Formats: sequence, structure tokens, C-alpha cells
Amino acid sequence: MQLYNTLTRREEEFKTIEPNKVRMYTCGPTVYNFAHIGNLRTYIHEDILQKTLEYLGYDVKRVMNITDVGHLESDADDGEDKMLKGALRENKTVWEIADFYTQAFFSDCSKLNIKKPTILGKATDYIDDYIAFIKALENKGFTYFENGNVYFDISKKEDYTKLSGMNLDELQTAARDDVTEDIHKRNPQDFVLWFTKSKFENQAMKWDSPWGVGYPGWHIECSVISLKNLGNQMDIHCGGVDHIPVHHTNEIAQTESYTGENWVNYWWHGEFLLDKDGKMSKSKGEFLTVSLLEKKGFNPLSYRYFVLNSHYRKQLAFSFDSLKQAENAYNKLKNRVAALKNSADDNGAEGDTAKYKALFTDCISDDLNTANAITVLFDVLKADDINNKQKLELVKDFETVLSLGLFEEEKEEEIPQEILDLVAKRQQARKEKNFALADQIRDEIANSGYVVEETRQGVKISKKA
Ligand code: AMP
Ligand code: ZN
Repeated sequence: MQLYNTLTRREEEFKTIEPNKVRMYTCGPTVYNFAHIGNLRTYIHEDILQKTLEYLGYDVKRVMNITDVGHLESDADDGEDKMLKGALRENKTVWEIADFYTQAFFSDCSKLNIKKPTILGKATDYIDDYIAFIKALENKGFTYFENGNVYFDISKKEDYTKLSGMNLDELQTAARDDVTEDIHKRNPQDFVLWFTKSKFENQAMKWDSPWGVGYPGWHIECSVISLKNLGNQMDIHCGGVDHIPVHHTNEIAQTESYTGENWVNYWWHGEFLLDKDGKMSKSKGEFLTVSLLEKKGFNPLSYRYFVLNSHYRKQLAFSFDSLKQAENAYNKLKNRVAALKNSADDNGAEGDTAKYKALFTDCISDDLNTANAITVLFDVLKADDINNKQKLELVKDFETVLSLGLFEEEKEEEIPQEILDLVAKRQQARKEKNFALADQIRDEIANSGYVVEETRQGVKISKKA
């Protein structure tokens, strides 16, 4: 497989550390709010990367962190504990907020057919490990203690800028750290490993440490959670391009200083989803979530289809019009697969399916060219040199990677319990020939958006069109 490597800035032949095994790490979500569909674009492409590797025969061990501690992400942060902000907004504890949005994240992932990682690491479950890690860095002379915080000294790390390929000035501009410079740093890019002096006084989650009561820096969780679960070296580390200049650069600096060896062989980065104002983010513009798409009547899998028609290394502009177009194409594709399922028995002569499988494999192995892989899927549906049963088998095979839900039945509309109760009450009223009450209940049901009809098969309940 050919894969673009941010570290070497070129496409490379993918080779693993251990034969047939891939150790993969993906930066996970911060759980003080819903993920937006921009975040989920990155997770969809990472899912494709994992499933492509599995399709090619690798056994993939994938680790992901859950950022459930509300710390600063950079000096440019405006100094509020995001977990606490979420908790106050919703009248919950910070722990409830973290649990709620972790569940919400995996519910969104499941709607988008994104597979759960092999191992999930909650940032707050590794506090003792961060402390041991920082102590080791301290012993090796990579840190300094200033104004209550433990800093990593980037001048001690050779090749600090190797991932971005920028010089220190460019890096600083990319990180926009100059907004509120921390006067206690020796170098502008130095970063905090352990805070006891928070920028904000209302920090909610705190732990005891050799440096005082406080909380870990942000980058440390990815270093420690990956080292603990994948060992000192891994094959692929993934994330969005926004993480190249600061988060991933700092992950590398501290991890390689700790282990004394090269850490990650391939760095994989997904490009942004844009809205009309630029990069989609949680803090500006309309907050686009999977639930919002559903509320507007979209099937989340048509968003997956929309995303897979673009390349992960290209920016993608989102609009409801383009999603609508994608949904139309997706529905047509689904209908064709349904028709194929119904006609899989009227078989023509068997042909050669290997060439289609090879074409599909070529596309996904070409730096994950999902758009071309979908074209191969359409070619299979159109093909006149293989029979329907063979087409169906190929589509099923491609689906193990694309996961577009082409074989999922439309989910039966779930009728809420209170409507079912009303329907039962109405049946009882009819039985007692209390038609006035029965009609009154029918109106009540209608006001809640449902229709009851008497059919020969019994009562039918459906959502009002
Ligand atoms: P966060 O929860 O902000 O840490 O982001 C989770 C993941 O989504 C990270 O890998 C980010 O790089 C990525 N991400 C953030 N914004 C976007 C965007 N607009 N488009 C695509 N990926 C994004
Ligand atoms: Zn990370």
C-alpha cells in the first residue's frame, strides 16, 4: 500500500514493524460537547484507513484516547475549564459531562459505521502514568519548573520541528501562540507537562503530584496512552492537520526524549471540512452535528458517502445542497443494490470477478482513494461480464471497507411508548363503544405527530408524513 507520510512529506510504500500487524493510534475527542461533522470527517477517514489495512490482511490494533480532562490546549486558549463550562451549562458534574459526551460520540460513530477502536484510554485513568513519565523526563534533564508548572524545554530536543518541516518562527505563527505569551517559558514553544498554577482558578479536576495539586498538560495523554498500549514504537499515528504544528510536534518531542528512540513510522493527517466561513469548529458558525443532520431528515450514512467521495488530504467544503446531492446519489446506489439482491437468483454465465477486486484494491491502496473505489463499485453494478450473484458478492466484499450500509434494511420507525399507551387506551375505549373518547385519543395521538389506522391486519401506527 502507498501511504502519504507527513513526516517525510511523500507517499511511501507501507511497511510494518511486525509482520502482518499494525499498531495504530488515533487522537480521540474532547468530551465537553458533541463532535461536529468536521471532527467526524477525520474519524471516517481513519476508519477507512483501519478497514483498508484489515482488507489487505493486517491485524490492526488501534488505540484512541478520550480527552475527559478540561485543560488548556494552547496558550491561545481563553482560560476556561471546558469540562466545567459544559457542566455549568448543563447543570451536571464534570464527570457526568464526560460520560454523556463520550456516549454521544460513540453513538455518532455507530450511525456513521465507524468501528470502535481496539483500546480506548480515558485521559483521567492514566494520572499515575503521566506523573511517572514526567519524573523520568525530569531526571533526564528535559524539563524545568517555573511558577508552579513543569515545562518541557524544546531546545533539549533535537529535530523538534521535524514533523511540520517549519522553522521555529513559522511554527509559532502556525500555532498562534503569540496571542497571550506565557512569560515563564524559556522558549515560546515550550509546553506544560503538569500544571499546578492554572490560567483559570476554577479548574474542576485536580490530582496530587510531586509538584503540587494540579492536572496534566494536554499532549501527555496521547504519548502515555500509546506507550502503555502499543509499546515504544508504532506504525501509524493519526489526527487532523491542525495537530501537526503543536500537538503532534509536542507528542513527538516528549515521547522520543522519554524513550530515546524513534517513535512513529508514519504520520497520517486528515484535512479539514470547511463551512462557508472556513474551517469548521465548535466555537463558530452553525454547530453541525450528526443529530442536526438527522433532524433535517438526512441519513447519517449519506454524510459518510459525501465524505468518501473526497480525498482525505484535500479540504472539503460542506453545504446542505452538496449533502442533498450526495444523498440522492447514495439512495440511487442503495436502490440498485436492493434490486440486485432481488435478482441475484436469475443467474447469467459466471465471469471473472478478480479484475474488479484488483481494481478496488488498487484504489484503496493508492493512499486511500475512496472516490475511485466508489467508481469501481458503480462499474461492478454496470458490468455485463459477470452475473448478479457475483456482483452481489463483490459489493459485499467492498462494503467491508466502505461501510456505506448498502445492505442495511431501513430501520423500522420506533414508536414511542407513550403513543403505544395511547393506542391501547383507544382500543379499550372502542371496545367499550365509547367512541367519543376513542376519537379524542386519536386526536391526541395526531397532535403528537402519529396516525392510527384500522387495517385488516389490525391497528397500524405511523409517523405523520
Ligand atoms: P478535537 O475534539 O477538537 O480534539 O478534534 C477531534 C479531531 O477532529 C482531531 O483529529 C482534529 O484534528 C479533527 N478536526 C477538528 N476540526 C476539524 C475540521 N474542521 N475538519 C476535519 N477534522 C477536524
Ligand atoms: Zn493526540
